[in-house]
Amino acid sequence: MTTSRRHSNSRRDSRRKNNKRIVPVVLVRCSNCGAMKIPHRVCLECGYYNGKPVIVKKIKEKKASK
Ligand SMILES: [Zn+2]
Repeated sequence: MTTSRRHSNSRRDSRRKNNKRIVPVVLVRCSNCGAMKIPHRVCLECGYYNGKPVIVKKIKEKKASK
């Protein structure tokens, strides 16, 4: 087995940097309320996903009981 060939320092650095790369934030518009949200996630504004309510906000219920 041969020893690994030498690479330049910049090549080594870029190779290590590739693993540290931050995935850019992707946002799509919610089809229900139009707010920006992460794709394939429940909308945090209205709690809807795929046209159905997933998260029912309890803030309104608390206000109604008072
Ligand atoms: Zn929404």
